[in-house]
Amino acid sequence: MAHIFLASPHMSEEGFEQEYIKEAFDTNWIAPLGKNVNEFEKELASYVGAVDAAALSSGTSAIHLALKAAGVGQGDVVICQDLTFSATVNPVAYEKAIPVFVDSDYETWNMSPEALEEALKKYPGAKAVIPVHLYGNPANMDEIMKICQAHGVTVIEDAAESLGTVYHGKYTGTFGEYGAFSFNGNKIITTSGGGMLVCNAEEEKAKERMAKVRFWATQAREPARHYEHKEIGYNYRMSNILAGIGRGQMKVLEQRVEKKRSIFAYYQEHLGALEGIFFMPVHEDERANCWLSVMLIAEDCPVKPLDVMLALEQGDIESRPVWKPMHLQPVFAGCDYIDHGGVAEDLFNRGVCLPSDTKMTEADLERVCGIVRSLWEK
Ligand SMILES: *Cc1c(COP(=O)(O)O)cnc(C)c1O
Repeated sequence: MAHIFLASPHMSEEGFEQEYIKEAFDTNWIAPLGKNVNEFEKELASYVGAVDAAALSSGTSAIHLALKAAGVGQGDVVICQDLTFSATVNPVAYEKAIPVFVDSDYETWNMSPEALEEALKKYPGAKAVIPVHLYGNPANMDEIMKICQAHGVTVIEDAAESLGTVYHGKYTGTFGEYGAFSFNGNKIITTSGGGMLVCNAEEEKAKERMAKVRFWATQAREPARHYEHKEIGYNYRMSNILAGIGRGQMKVLEQRVEKKRSIFAYYQEHLGALEGIFFMPVHEDERANCWLSVMLIAEDCPVKPLDVMLALEQGDIESRPVWKPMHLQPVFAGCDYIDHGGVAEDLFNRGVCLPSDTKMTEADLERVCGIVRSLWEK
């Protein structure tokens, strides 16, 4: 039996990606920029409804340049979601700014608006807030935006996992001033590696900001015949070849969202009746992209998350714990943390990310469910 991945690259059956790559080869537009980059930016911006988008080398670089565009520098406080991947926070450290971690709530598993309010009272000079839409599940953006607007603080959405997620009629990544997407190999669509920063300010301001982002991303070269530099730059642009993959992947994004959602529905239907199992909260009035299907196991359940992961591993099936909260990471020891009842830590302790690969067949899903169910039947 074949190995089942947690989430792996899934190119279109039609070969759209290769057509765009071929065009780049035929015109020798291999690098640096070119038509695929420009079109990929336009296509993503128009899909999510953002004013402007810049294709970059990773989601991490997108967050980094959003912080710079927001004017974050040495010693500034940036309020970050505690329950996330370290890539949300590392760029804060690149700029020698100070991350403050905010706990999640059980309603969304993302940043708790109440804890955020508390954080902003404690750090009224905070320069930016980074909520995350973990596993494709939207954060409570209605409340988060209200609070951040009242405090005049810039919101950068880490939408790396949530491309295609719709929250109250709008795509995630378009609520804050900036939204960052990732096309890493395990994300819902991939360019093998890459990212996109979108800006949602009013048109003129957004264009200006994003021109600056593209400038930083191409080594901060001043407009001169020779190489003139007044600022530190980065080599963060996406190549024209990878943007070709991205354009092909955009054509199957909706299909991928539907498949991810059907995987989640399958797990709910076939595992939901097991004693002490809960699933991530997916709300009726939202369309979560269900990037990963995550289940929680009650504390008093005799089956532990590790038992599930080990049993799946025995069956050549990949699964993983929920992200380990940032305030528990040795690298961020000493950073402040606003607690909301230890929700992030509880989710880390009790969660299992189930395989959510869009290439899975119904037989694959039944193989996963069969192994999980067998642990409850012992
Ligand atoms: C994947 C991911 C990132 C980083 O994206 P890269 O493209 O891998 O740099 C950032 N935040 C979260 C929550 C992610 O899952």
